[in-house]
Amino acid sequence: MDMPSRIDSSDLETSVAEESQRGLFGKLGSRIARQRGEAAPNLQTREALLLLQNYEESRQGWFWSTDARGRLTYITDSVARQMGRSSADLLGTVFTELFLPGDSHGERQRTLPFLLTRQSKFDELPLRSAFEGDDRWWAVSGRPHFDGEKFAGYRGSGTDITAQRRSAEDASRLALYDSLTGLANRFHISKKLDSTLAAFVQQQRSCAIMLLDLDRFKQVNDTLGHPAGDALLKQVAERLLKIVGDKEMVSRLGGDEFQIILPDIDDRGKLGDMAADIINSLSQPYSVEGSRCIIGASVGVAIAPFDGQSSDDLVRNADLALYAAKGNGRGRFSFYSSDLHQSAEDRRILEEDLRDALARGEMELCYQPVVNAKSNIVTGVEALIRWTHPDRGVISPALFIPIAEEANLIWPLGEWVLRKACEEAAGWPGHLRVAVNVSPIQFANPDLPKIVANALATTGLPPDRLELEITESVFLGDSAETARMFKALKGLGVRLALDDFGTGYSSLGYLQSAPFDKIKIDQSFVRGATVQGSRNGAIIAAIVALAEALEMETTAEGIESLDQLELIRKLNVSHVQGYVYSKPVPGDELVRQTEAGSWTIEPAGPARQRNDRVSLFRKVGAVHDNHRYNVVIRNLSATGAFIEGIIDVPVGTRFVIDFGEGQLVTATVRRSMKHQQGVEFEQSLVSDGNGGLCTRHRVSPYLIAAAAQQTGALALPSFTTTSDWKAA
Ligand code: C2E
Ligand code: MG
Ligand code: MG
Repeated sequence: MDMPSRIDSSDLETSVAEESQRGLFGKLGSRIARQRGEAAPNLQTREALLLLQNYEESRQGWFWSTDARGRLTYITDSVARQMGRSSADLLGTVFTELFLPGDSHGERQRTLPFLLTRQSKFDELPLRSAFEGDDRWWAVSGRPHFDGEKFAGYRGSGTDITAQRRSAEDASRLALYDSLTGLANRFHISKKLDSTLAAFVQQQRSCAIMLLDLDRFKQVNDTLGHPAGDALLKQVAERLLKIVGDKEMVSRLGGDEFQIILPDIDDRGKLGDMAADIINSLSQPYSVEGSRCIIGASVGVAIAPFDGQSSDDLVRNADLALYAAKGNGRGRFSFYSSDLHQSAEDRRILEEDLRDALARGEMELCYQPVVNAKSNIVTGVEALIRWTHPDRGVISPALFIPIAEEANLIWPLGEWVLRKACEEAAGWPGHLRVAVNVSPIQFANPDLPKIVANALATTGLPPDRLELEITESVFLGDSAETARMFKALKGLGVRLALDDFGTGYSSLGYLQSAPFDKIKIDQSFVRGATVQGSRNGAIIAAIVALAEALEMETTAEGIESLDQLELIRKLNVSHVQGYVYSKPVPGDELVRQTEAGSWTIEPAGPARQRNDRVSLFRKVGAVHDNHRYNVVIRNLSATGAFIEGIIDVPVGTRFVIDFGEGQLVTATVRRSMKHQQGVEFEQSLVSDGNGGLCTRHRVSPYLIAAAAQQTGALALPSFTTTSDWKAA
């Protein structure tokens, strides 16, 4: 641009429009000149104009002016170009139209039109460009100017603050989002839960939350390193988002803990399915930095308003449910229920008691026969630990082994089992093999081969009569370490069995490299095979074929019914361990049975597997015609149960069964014996994730409160009235 020509005296006569097009300084210069009564700006003014023009061209800032009606009379051309226009295009445009009206964050923005009508001055007002494709932010200042007393318009300037604005946005993003995964952070999700619950209480809506904790993440982090751990967490976040969908509702609370908010869901069938989907998806193998790794996940679920109405209560209860899910063996979900408070306490006490149980002689071993499926001859036994607690009686190892693992008690316990089993087996008549379960925690200890060798040496048991049962989870650790351990154990001459195949990752790949003598197919997998349409049968056939090729034996675990046994024989599984042959027996019975030399068992059991019934003796309420009876429930299944406590109820009678905590189910009597009725549920129960059952829906506490105000019978504690039936 040629400056001198612009400040030629002839400019004084040009129109405002032409003037503006040439820059504010042309106009400014003319005005100054006019005011001073000069024909053209003097030298100092010229210098000032040049400086201002340089400034405009540098794009560090821009200038604008309007007339009294707020329409642009001047705007720096370069900024007009940034808006995708030329300054000539923009002249006459109402100034406020250059900017977006205030959004929800822009308290101050809304004040632009207000400020202009009030004819107030303003400084550095942050405004966002209204032009499409231009997402710039400007800080705009302006001052009104007057023609004598009369308001004549505005003059002002602006600067580009897009970069500052972005970094401020980034900073607030950082305050709300987890920088590793991009998910909401703990702060953000807890605010969100607070506001959601507050709104939902008013509207009596429900809202579920899931707390999720990765299983064995620490192992991966420790063995593969933190960058790998980070990469893994990112993939976990992606998988979660795929299932949950709503990005804003998923959060990483920190470490390997996640939380999900699920508004308007209270169906425990749906939530259970979703939790199972999440667990399943997160348990698929990951590839991080060239290594393959596998982790698992446990999920705790709590639902407002049933399990708490404030976010504190809900989160605490979901946490308790998560703790229960982990305590039940990980890789599971669990719904909150009020008895979890008690079980958390029970678990703590159990851990205390477990510390002295060995010393107090409360532990024993029993032995379950492993039978050749064709000949019915017992080929070996599995040693299973039994704890007889002084107050609580026999406690299942499924319950206390995980506690022992967590409380660092598995070592003394495992060593005791190993010695005891070798010692007893060495004294048995015949050559029965004994299998001992080895926890992955024992397997990770480099001292294990020494301890096994020691047990064999002191008891004199030939090594090939000892079999160590190991679960797939040992393959999650350092693979070089694992290989060394296998080699050391094989070097002792003991046999190795892969336990619980089909419950974990079930990758056939490692069977080729690990020197197993036997694969034990888990009972859940075998049971699944009898279900119509299941592919488990085909998979078992494949495992058997592979095992045969690798010269391994196969054992099907948990076979109870004759139809399962028949299927297993058809699939050529070589061995069977299950109630259909024998339950675990005490050592002295084993000695009695084997005295004759070999031990043969005829299979016996129900013809077919029944719908999994949870043998449960639970007091519940049965409500009929405003009468509530206290009944005991037996043989609960998803579709029905037996109830006891009322006599002579006609077939076809309908009850509402109250399982407590708002769990109501309509049931119809289908069979009626004198003291016992077989009832069928109108809506099937769903899995509670821990082998138990629960109702899909619960009666909301709002409804219960409303019902209590009237004289409703539902879920009222207990009352006695006369009726057609006698209470038993
Ligand atoms: P596991 O090693 O898979 O043992 C088989 C479990 O299935 C045993 O349960 C056995 O009693 C049960 N079982 C066998 N046949 C049937 C059947 O037909 N139907 C049903 N419903 N169950 C059957 P148990 O004794 O309660 O042991 C549970 C788990 O505890 C074992 O599973 C094993 O993982 C662990 N465990 C037991 N003893 C020890 C031990 O000494 N050390 C270690 N580390 N773990 C042990
Ligand atoms: Mg076992
Ligand atoms: Mg097993």
